[in-house]
Amino acid sequence: MSNKKNIVPDPTSYISMIHVEPDCLDHPVTREILARAGNIPVEVISDDNQGIKDLGFYPKSLTAGKHHLLLGKNRGRFFKPCPGTKEYICCDYQVLNIGMNCPMDCVYCILQAYLNNPYLSFFVNIEDLLNELIEAFAQKPEQFWRIGTGEFTDSLALDRLTGLSRVLVQFMRDKDSAVLELKTKTAVVENLEGLDHGGRTIVAWSLNSPEIVAREELRTASLDQRLAAAARCASWGYKLAFHFDPIIYHSGWQDGYAETIKKLFAAVPKESIAWISMGCLRYLPSLKKIAGQRFPNSRFFHEEFIEGLDGKARYFRTLRLEMYQFIYQQLQQYADPETCIYLCMENNEIWQEVFGFTPDDRGGLPKMLDRAVK
Ligand code: SF4
Repeated sequence: MSNKKNIVPDPTSYISMIHVEPDCLDHPVTREILARAGNIPVEVISDDNQGIKDLGFYPKSLTAGKHHLLLGKNRGRFFKPCPGTKEYICCDYQVLNIGMNCPMDCVYCILQAYLNNPYLSFFVNIEDLLNELIEAFAQKPEQFWRIGTGEFTDSLALDRLTGLSRVLVQFMRDKDSAVLELKTKTAVVENLEGLDHGGRTIVAWSLNSPEIVAREELRTASLDQRLAAAARCASWGYKLAFHFDPIIYHSGWQDGYAETIKKLFAAVPKESIAWISMGCLRYLPSLKKIAGQRFPNSRFFHEEFIEGLDGKARYFRTLRLEMYQFIYQQLQQYADPETCIYLCMENNEIWQEVFGFTPDDRGGLPKMLDRAVK
């Protein structure tokens, strides 16, 4: 079931205004973006950001903010370990912060509770980003790095404007001790075609039941469009990954997730999949209020939740287990034995009950993932 039309949505078409920090105006990346932006109006903001348009009260401003792209410099660090929590098993991922927010609008998006301004932002000082990576790799040559750009935004949502994926994929091409994961809900992959990627980039999609995709993930590509894009990437030699996250309880969830999994393996060669994660919905308590105001017709926050050790709401253990076991059983019917199937932010007991082993039995989750791409 999908009410999305067959035209692949371009999230950048949602942008109606570009704002530029004055010291970025002459930056070559800014110039390239503005050249691609065509008729989108551009405004240079003042040095103290005072000129930036007030979009009204939070959280309603989040809706308006998705029309506005701010081009600026990242004056902090681009590259940081993922802020996992010590209470649950995390995958030791490194986050590359290319900008904040995205023009799509998922009801459960955690960014709604994190953002301190409603704008979409993109950092144009890509040269500093690459230098940070070069430095980090040189400082710890023994480390294997799994890097992702999809933590504070969608990795490809702005790619038609920024062209960043081409820069990153080509930079990573010969970095044997690292792999880059581009995680997306779009089907905007044409920038990845024809690149010498050296097998160092994994293109990843968040997947959900067709009903959740259609109802709770606004302006994203449909399930079929995502899978068609994944198949194209596989045909260009990229490794793929898929994330069933957030798994959301809803009426008919078994049929929905089973259908998605069936479609997934009908669309892409199983050998091309490096890893598949599963993670049940979890959210900061403040998110429920924000999303409730923005999406009053959405019902899934009204299920029963408990507070996890990380302060986030999550489903009861019995329900999480039931959903993981069901989805894992479906995945096992089709998946390649080399694909690493794992849980995101769960504990050893749940691992044991779902898979019959814990990450420690296999050298730890980071090592399991490293092995899937080394
Ligand atoms: S695609 Fe990702 S970043 Fe964009 S709104 Fe959805 S969850 Fe948030």
